[in-house]
Amino acid sequence: MFEKSIAHFEALLKGMVFDCHACGQCVLRQTGLICPMSCPKGLRNGPCGGTLHGECEVYPDKRCVWVRIHQRTARDSQALPDLLPSPDARLHHTSSYLNFLAGKDELTRQPLPYLELGRQRTRLPVQTASRLEQRLKSGAFVKTCELRAPRGANFDGLRSEAAAIRGHFDAVNATAFLNAKPSLPSPVAAAELVRLGLEAICQATCRDHTKTSFIAELLQNQITGVQNVLCLTGDSYAGVPKIKQVFDMDGALMIYEARYLREMGVVHFTGQRLNPPPRLFLGAAINPFTQPPNVPIRRLKQKVAAGVDFIQTQVVFDVPGFRQFMAAAHDEGLTEEVFILAGVPVVTSVAGLGVIPRIPGVWLPAAVQRRLGQAKNIEAEGIAVAQELATELSDLPGVAGLHFMLFGPDHTVLPPIARTLRPCRVGSTPQAVSTSPIDTPCPSLT
Ligand code: SF4
Repeated sequence: MFEKSIAHFEALLKGMVFDCHACGQCVLRQTGLICPMSCPKGLRNGPCGGTLHGECEVYPDKRCVWVRIHQRTARDSQALPDLLPSPDARLHHTSSYLNFLAGKDELTRQPLPYLELGRQRTRLPVQTASRLEQRLKSGAFVKTCELRAPRGANFDGLRSEAAAIRGHFDAVNATAFLNAKPSLPSPVAAAELVRLGLEAICQATCRDHTKTSFIAELLQNQITGVQNVLCLTGDSYAGVPKIKQVFDMDGALMIYEARYLREMGVVHFTGQRLNPPPRLFLGAAINPFTQPPNVPIRRLKQKVAAGVDFIQTQVVFDVPGFRQFMAAAHDEGLTEEVFILAGVPVVTSVAGLGVIPRIPGVWLPAAVQRRLGQAKNIEAEGIAVAQELATELSDLPGVAGLHFMLFGPDHTVLPPIARTLRPCRVGSTPQAVSTSPIDTPCPSLT
């Protein structure tokens, strides 16, 4: 009764002053006295990729909680942020004062120690069975694209799309529950891509996973030969009501869980040893256009420190803006630590163009929107735009490859765009000969 009264009083008081959400393991000291639980996704580290100019993805009339936290705690600094653990659900709606005194919140209040993963990690020897990792470390300029997991109980559509792109891409993402709509799970679609001879990237979202189901999915991927996982926060899609969104982790914590397991063979949050542990090549997403510009750099740094191997960025329509992001990433030494693949939009239908402004976090400059919107043949214009973007992006220092995202129905448009790109990264220091089926080794290796 005493404890309940204290908890009630604390929630009332801190609710009025800090918009406290009563997690019972207070981290206000680390977050500039802004409660991270007031983020609608309850992210303990952020922001997600859904904010562009400081607005919240879920409630655009409100400011992003995590942009405010970065501004309050770091101003313009690009320093590495702490990595806060996910909260212990058992402590919710209890008193954080009492939990602090009893030491109950010790593990969830203190920042996690980052793992010792070495320096210049893009030059370290290959660490997994991923062909994508081998290709990147061989100095190849890689190309990836994505296929949607089937929204039905057969693989017919996926197989014909896979046939259309086969032999032209180093790896293919199997998307997961796009817009929170049910489909075959990404690991199932990715396993089918592996069966078809493609290098697959499974996508996992914090929106749909507890930590337990995420680790289980890593095991599933390892056993089905899917060697790459892309860890995403997941959008909070307003069009799909009545689903419980999980957010047991944010994107950086998801990476940390997977990397900890890969390095230690132990599940971080249970201490349980897995034998053998999944050793997957780990990816994450970054939105380079989040403002202010130090925020995406800090978030990238955090994901790198958490153990990410490669990044696929949000789609890039604005090359000068992306150039600034890459210059900052390069100055901070991040392009030596992680392979960055720039997102290239391929818009080939009016419906596809209509979707883009509704995707959280996508920056579509008005001039590009006009060019595509006024085109007589949107498919031809969309391909021309994609080719221009791909050429310019592939010339930027530090860009290790491109990730093509199709906004249209026909995947056969992708291979001709990919074919025009150069095979090797400028200034790359290859270590191993490519084993990819898609093409020959870089000339510098022969
Ligand atoms: S934009 Fe994302 S991180 Fe920021 S408050 Fe909204 S949901 Fe949270």
